[in-house]
Amino acid sequence: MTKTNIPEKGAIIQRDMETFSILPHIPGGFAEPALLRKIADVAEKYGAKYVKLTGAQRIAIMGVREEDLDNIWAEFTDRSKAIGLTIRSIQMCPGTRSCKRGKQDSPGLGFALDSEFYGKPAPSKFKMGISGCPNCCSDSWLKDLGFIGTDSGFRAVVGGKGGSTPKTARELVDGLSEDQAIALARKVIGFYRENAQGAERLGSTIERVGFETFTKAIL
Ligand code: SF4
Repeated sequence: MTKTNIPEKGAIIQRDMETFSILPHIPGGFAEPALLRKIADVAEKYGAKYVKLTGAQRIAIMGVREEDLDNIWAEFTDRSKAIGLTIRSIQMCPGTRSCKRGKQDSPGLGFALDSEFYGKPAPSKFKMGISGCPNCCSDSWLKDLGFIGTDSGFRAVVGGKGGSTPKTARELVDGLSEDQAIALARKVIGFYRENAQGAERLGSTIERVGFETFTKAIL
């Protein structure tokens, strides 16, 4: 039988159509040394082909066997998974925690969003990027929902994406506190869940219903 992704096990079929990659949850790519050691130990123990840093600030354990998936996940304390039609890993930069250019605490907002939304269902993949300043090191303009730190708070941008038909996000509002940004994320994701047709990305939903209609519903 042909093997495919196994979303409930967070397992992505590899090019050999035989082995899988899995992605332990590493919020924003901020990993404790113990987690890095655990990933290395698991990769070695289960004969992974290699580990790979991903664009979404995760570390993929590549090329493991289907029969080992349950045991591999059991090695981790945090077994949250986010592949397929879900709210994906949230990209975050260090912001005011360590970057001299930071205007806002991007990890603070990012961790709060991660704990509420990571791995939750969505009509299609849903990506967020939180940048501590307009330099936008977390690619916020290319995310379904991005936040960018400014002097007055967080600026929210919506409807961006990368991929084969990239789209730049549009600015929705500026000057949000962290709590206001979280409340806005709830509304945007709620709107998307209610209004998406099929597996369209948020930017397509906004284009179809109209930016004004979307804005009125959210703000
Ligand atoms: S986006 Fe700004 S705050 Fe974040 S890492 Fe880049 S320069 Fe620093």
